[in-house]
Amino acid sequence: MTKTPLTVIGLGPMGRAMSAAFLRAGHPVTVWNRTPAKASGLVEQGAVLAATPAEALAAGDLIVLSLTDFDVMYTIIEPATAALAGKTVVNLSSDTPDRAREAAAWAAGHGAGYLSGAMMASPDLVATEAASAFYSGPRELFDEHAATLSLIAAPDYRGEDPGLGPLYYQLVINIFWTTMLAHVQTIAIARANGISATDLLPYALSATESNPHFFPQMAAQADAGDYPSDLERLSMGLISVEHVLRTTAEAGVDTTLASAVAEVFRRGVDAGLGEKGFTSLVETLGAKS
Ligand code: NDP
Repeated sequence: MTKTPLTVIGLGPMGRAMSAAFLRAGHPVTVWNRTPAKASGLVEQGAVLAATPAEALAAGDLIVLSLTDFDVMYTIIEPATAALAGKTVVNLSSDTPDRAREAAAWAAGHGAGYLSGAMMASPDLVATEAASAFYSGPRELFDEHAATLSLIAAPDYRGEDPGLGPLYYQLVINIFWTTMLAHVQTIAIARANGISATDLLPYALSATESNPHFFPQMAAQADAGDYPSDLERLSMGLISVEHVLRTTAEAGVDTTLASAVAEVFRRGVDAGLGEKGFTSLVETLGAKS
């Protein structure tokens, strides 16, 4: 069976890993990158390096974009939009849900189908069982290309709205970065007290590993809009995070994060949620002023 000709635009670590996976599976792959030297390894594996974005777009039926963000996408593709008609664009570049919706409309305006994508793996895990990717956009278009897309990561279709794939990505990445920053801040407090990150490690691990235990109960409470205090009373939580804030200040460590955490708890208590479980903060955090 003839394999769909693919074009990959953007050859950072992610674009290179995806291109290599498509080549291994026997797809004709045309690539373009602002810095053409990054294509050399792929060309050795059989990829065709296009001279211009327009030439790259013309070569593939499925156009995979792997760029820093959507501004870069418009910079590269806008001068070549005449080549978009009849193509399917799968945009695996990161940006916001609203920008994905705009991009879908922009692509439609140029006669192209559009799937939003978001890779949930680092480049070294592309094409392994550890990789998954969120997609959203027209179901038929996704179904048509799901087998090809599964060569780079297990596809997880989130719905018709083109904003949904990037939204799920941002939801997950928000947990990632916020948790990681809490860990870095904790290392800073430990270090200021003469405790190395390595000595902290077993305790950091056990603190983080206990978090998922709470998640199902938090989800049930948030969805029911009912926050019994059997998890952790918010007023107790406020006292606890204020101790963390003071410990951070005593250590001479930047208090930006600890202050923000205490402020969020304080606002919840001020809103009358003190006797409820701390997941009730979703009500004050989500309240539009
Ligand atoms: P890089 O930032 O390394 O690569 C980005 C690509 O964008 C390169 O091809 C680069 O070209 C191009 N680019 C950037 N600015 C411009 C510009 N002004 N004009 C033209 N081209 C430009 O990113 P990655 O490969 O790591 O990631 C690609 C996408 O995948 C990103 O959206 C990222 O958020 C997402 N992603 C990455 C993950 C990772 O672990 N790396 C994990 C999950 C998602 P050039 O080579 O010439 O600089």
